[in-house]
Amino acid sequence: MDPTRICILCGADTLSDIRYSDDIAGITSDCKLWPYSGRYARCTTCGHVQKRLSGRLINDIENIYSNYEPYSLSNGDEHLIFHESANITRSYALLKRLKLAIKNIPQEGRLIDIGCGNGSFLKAFGDACPKWDLFGFEQSNLRAKGVAAVKEIYCGSLDTIEGTYDIVTMIHVLEHVFEPVNFLRGLHTLINPAGVLFIQTPFFKTNPFDLTIVDHCSHFQPDTLAYAVNAAGFSTTLQEDWIAKEIGIVAGEGGSNQIPAAYAAVTTSVEQSFLWLHKVAAHARELSGQGTFGIFGTAIAGTWLASMAMPQVNFFTDEDPQKQGKEHLGLPVFHPQSVPYKDAVVYLAFPAETSIAIYKRLSVSYPQIKFCVPPALNAAGDCV
Ligand SMILES: [Zn+2]
Repeated sequence: MDPTRICILCGADTLSDIRYSDDIAGITSDCKLWPYSGRYARCTTCGHVQKRLSGRLINDIENIYSNYEPYSLSNGDEHLIFHESANITRSYALLKRLKLAIKNIPQEGRLIDIGCGNGSFLKAFGDACPKWDLFGFEQSNLRAKGVAAVKEIYCGSLDTIEGTYDIVTMIHVLEHVFEPVNFLRGLHTLINPAGVLFIQTPFFKTNPFDLTIVDHCSHFQPDTLAYAVNAAGFSTTLQEDWIAKEIGIVAGEGGSNQIPAAYAAVTTSVEQSFLWLHKVAAHARELSGQGTFGIFGTAIAGTWLASMAMPQVNFFTDEDPQKQGKEHLGLPVFHPQSVPYKDAVVYLAFPAETSIAIYKRLSVSYPQIKFCVPPALNAAGDCV
């Protein structure tokens, strides 16, 4: 069977192309431009939004990972996530939510972070629970940086991991996996009978920019993430929006393997998200033609928006001190206070709701800059 026709979640031969998904520029998850974003499809059996696993896409993803440079602009440190009032790392925001979800985390235990990257979540967890034994897993032989309390980082395949764990975390990993359900099944041998599996993924409804990431094979929504976890034999204990723009799930052993039949009725409209991306790109292009134009933010959204508005983008601006004074896509990155142009227009590269909250803060802090926000979506999915 042609692999581009098979749903990567449920295995049915029922993929259907998604409207408005053409002409979307591709970005790698380490924030580089990529010439091809893949072909998007939705499974009419389970509702899962995904990329068709063509030979070209698989080849591209292998190339992306072989040259991977996470957070290269910030010297390998984790991006800050921007709140209205303060900037914190995603790991600390997640840890706060995890502690609310798992009431009474014991004093001691064993945790492994699958796809631990540079160890930022392990570090956050170790700071909060110093008596825990912490472990990490990475496909490549990246070593967790600055995590003194880590016992071991396993590399290669899941088979190399020894022992069992009270908490297994997977933060922004499952969307990269070619066979998500099989991958999750492989975790049963790692989790203690009363252990907890914690999974976090992006969500295209609240963050449409997720759709532009080439090496995200899956674009989960709450129902399809629950489907993956249930189909792999885990039981879902809690699911919610953990931090803005993302979805998370807490699960344990003891799943019934019974998959609810109603998933085809998943209602999140990915077409609205693609439509919004097109409108944001058109809006940015229109504004960029009117004078000196900059983009606020150098992560996925800012990189993507710049690629859609090139060559009329003059600079980036970012409040993260690690990024200031550097170049991104060959353009300078300024602190908002140091933007050297009068009457510059700066586009806030964030999902609509987030950008309005950020706009309110920035327009007070940096009144010399004219900030612009992306169009909002009304209930019908139209830009307003
Ligand atoms: Zn499916």
